[in-house]
Amino acid sequence: MVEEFAFDNTEERRKHRQNGAGWVEVIVGSMFSGKSEELIRRLNRASIARQKVQVFKPIIDARYSVEEIASHSGRKHLSKPVTTSAELMEQIQPETQVVGIDEGQFFDAGLVEAVNDLANSGKRVIIAGLDQDYTGKPFEPMPQLLCIAEYITKIHAICVKCGATANFTQRTVESDARVEVGASDKYEARCRKCFIPHSDAPTVIEP
Ligand code: ADP
Ligand code: ZN
Repeated sequence: MVEEFAFDNTEERRKHRQNGAGWVEVIVGSMFSGKSEELIRRLNRASIARQKVQVFKPIIDARYSVEEIASHSGRKHLSKPVTTSAELMEQIQPETQVVGIDEGQFFDAGLVEAVNDLANSGKRVIIAGLDQDYTGKPFEPMPQLLCIAEYITKIHAICVKCGATANFTQRTVESDARVEVGASDKYEARCRKCFIPHSDAPTVIEP
């Protein structure tokens, strides 16, 4: 087992839960670090344990409105596309035990209170998202979610330039928009040494 996941002892937590309260788990890292993969792994295990699971992701554009979350490696899980945190809350069924949320960084600030309310009502909430944008700045509301989470998992990709641990998402196409939907066509994982901060970056970064 990867050391970073060693503390994902969900069964243990459930066993020792005494007061009926839920909790919040946050999975963060750069693009390609395996956040969706890890979220899907936890959701699958909850489903195998016959827990009632609901999964959500934000609608960013038409391409993102398909009813599943997917990892870059091709793993998938059904999910409900929603536009806002309020819409997410409207969809929650009382009997749901586990709520999964992917691409948390694309939600509004209301997600923080929503997640708190869900955990307070006894649900396990798992959110995956980018902790930094393409310039390396904290990507709200993920920093706030990290503060309220009981459990945090930070995972890393491999730097495509040098093979070191990658903590940054390098944008490789010209765009100043904070949200620019894409995958390996527009982004790559880079370490601290190979990451070129946006202000220093040439207009198009050579792959
Ligand atoms: P995230 O949700 O963090 O963007 P995913 O879970 O969608 O990540 O995808 C992780 C998978 O991406 C890895 O298991 C691996 O197959 C693939 N991958 C592609 N490029 C890289 C990279 N530079 N470092 C690590 N994994 C990568
Ligand atoms: Zn590097």
